[in-house]
Order: sequence, then structure tokens, then C-alpha cells
Amino acid sequence: MSAPNKSYDPVEVEALKPEEIERMRDEALAAFESAADLDALTHAKTAHTGPTSPLSLANREIGALPPQAKAEAGKRVGMARGAVNKALAARLAVLEAERDERVLVEEAVDVTLPYDRTPAGARHPLTTFMERVADVFVAMGYEVAEGPEAEAEWFNFDALNFVPDHPARQMQDTFFVQDADGAKSDESGVVLRTHTSPVQARALLERREPPVYVVCPGRVYRTDELDATHTPVFHQIELLAVDEGLTMADLKGTLDHMVQALFGAGMKTRLRPNYFPFTEPSAEMDMVCYVCRGESVGNPDRPCRTCGSEGWIELGGCGMVNPKVLVACGVDPQKYSGFAFGFGIERMLMFRHNVEDMRDMVEGDVRFTRPFGMEI
Ligand SMILES: [Zn+2]
Repeated sequence: MSAPNKSYDPVEVEALKPEEIERMRDEALAAFESAADLDALTHAKTAHTGPTSPLSLANREIGALPPQAKAEAGKRVGMARGAVNKALAARLAVLEAERDERVLVEEAVDVTLPYDRTPAGARHPLTTFMERVADVFVAMGYEVAEGPEAEAEWFNFDALNFVPDHPARQMQDTFFVQDADGAKSDESGVVLRTHTSPVQARALLERREPPVYVVCPGRVYRTDELDATHTPVFHQIELLAVDEGLTMADLKGTLDHMVQALFGAGMKTRLRPNYFPFTEPSAEMDMVCYVCRGESVGNPDRPCRTCGSEGWIELGGCGMVNPKVLVACGVDPQKYSGFAFGFGIERMLMFRHNVEDMRDMVEGDVRFTRPFGMEI
């Protein structure tokens, strides 16, 4: 067994010399003191207290010393590291306080400053578009007429020549609010109106004597499920003109004027025979496609998505007011004639603005309405 190595001198271990430890400590303290911000301090911290820092490496050397030398070297390194950690904590506190103070100043918000870009909100494009359509007719001398949305069955159907067992009463999938009282055969039931046409009957009855020129925008109801192309609550706009000597030529001219006012000069309409109980004769009205103006028809090089390359877009229904409706509303069909037409606002807004899903119109998301502008 060999004797203990009495001749060992810890001073000989370079990294553990007192002046070396002092130098390491002083370098660390100087680095912390000169760190101008928290990032610089983080770097200094890694360099002087991290696992590869001089003091950590010196600490590791202690293990290699003989037992009698360990205590002194350990004390020396431990004191140096303690001083370094204390200086680090002190500098960190100073720099954090500086940062907090600066952030408070830099990020201060003066809530009293005037701010002119606050979103002002907007009316729904359905409302503004419906009013724009109505304005076209107001400019021609029409009056805007409104009526109740919970409507007497008589106005919704009977006055408009829908007989009690008329298939349209089922076809239209009506919301019935109150059944007719069977015991009193003259009592009318109540429905949520399925179209704006009852407003026309009311206008005729209220005005009594033609001429009557009214435009009726409003909300209507059918028992459809909400999907991309259907909604149980939607909007229609209808027009009624009753006067002496009105013909389909007047109807056609009015339609042409409307599409030109809404879609630009050169637009025109066409009529296709159809059937509605309240008009006779009745027609579906189409307008020429406002995108391709019909040039996509038979032209595979220029397909049109808006009209499906058909050249025409179906708008709604129209016709000459059925004399039976005039009689039901107290107007003499021998003296007066009239025309009417109506269409759905949602559908027109969809193709006018390339809206692909009807649900966007009813869900109330401001991201849908915002691109339509702040029209008020
Ligand atoms: Zn087209």
C-alpha cells in the first residue's frame, strides 16, 4: 500500500488556483454588469454558469483532487459560484424592471384618442338590395306596400284564386298558424304568408279604385329545410299595376326597364308560358345573362358559369292579373286590367354576387356582409 501523496499541491492544478477562480468570477460579474438587455444577459448566463463555463469546468476538477485538498478548493469554487449567481439574479432583476417600465410606456393605449376606423356596421345586403329594387319602381311612380307576415289564409290563397283543394296549397308547403274553424265556414285560418302576393290583394281592397301601382318587398315562409339553395324564411319582391288598358306590352317594358336599372344598359327579358292561379296568361321571365350576354350559347370556347352557357337566367314569374282576382278584390275586370310579377331576392343576390351557399345569407356572420360595403 503506497503512502498518501503528501506532496500534492492543489495550486498546481491550473484551473483551481485562487487567482484563476477570482478571474473567472470577476469576468462573470463584468459580463453580467455589461449586459445591456435580457437577451445579452441570457448569453452571459450560459457562458458563465452553464455546464461548459470555466467555473463549472473548475468544479469538475475538484473530484480529481486528493481528499485533503478537496475541501479548500470546493470552498473557493463554491464561494465564487455563489457570488456569480447572486450577481446574475441582481442584474436580472434590474433588467426585468427596466423592461417592464419600457413596455408600460411603449404599449400604453390612449383610449381617449379619436379613432375614425371603428367599423360602423352595415345593413344586410338582402335589405339594401331589396330596397334598391323597390327604388327602381318608386322612381316610376309606384308606392311601397307592406302587409302582415302572419296572414289570413283568405288573402294568401283564396283571394288569389287558389281554390280550397288547389294543389298549390300543398305544393307551397305552408306553415299553418291557426286552422280555419270548420263550424264557421266563413272564418279564415292563419298562415305564415308563402308569398308577397296577399299584399297586392290588400292594396286593391284598401285603395278600392284603380289606378293602383304598388311594389311589395317582404319576408315570406315555406317549410323548406335550410341548405345551400333553400331557406324556410326568404324574401320576395312583387309588383302590381292595375289601370285602364294595361297589356302584356306594358309588363314587358317594365321588366326590361327593371333589369336595365339593376344590371346595366342593353339588358333584356323574355317570357315563357307558365301557369299561376292569380295571373292569366302567366309567364316565367328570364333575363339575358349579364355576364356573357348570351355569347356563351353554342360557343364551347367561351363557357359561362353564371348561366350554364344557356344565355338566359330565370328571374321569376309574371303575368296579367287573373280577372277572378280583380273581382275578389272588388275591381271591375271589364274596365281595368293589370299585371304582376315577383321574384326571390336571395336567388337574385346569389347570382348577382356569386354567392354559392344560401346559408351564408342567414347565419349573420359579419365576414359575409362586410364585402358588400357599409351601405346605409
Ligand atoms: Zn352567361
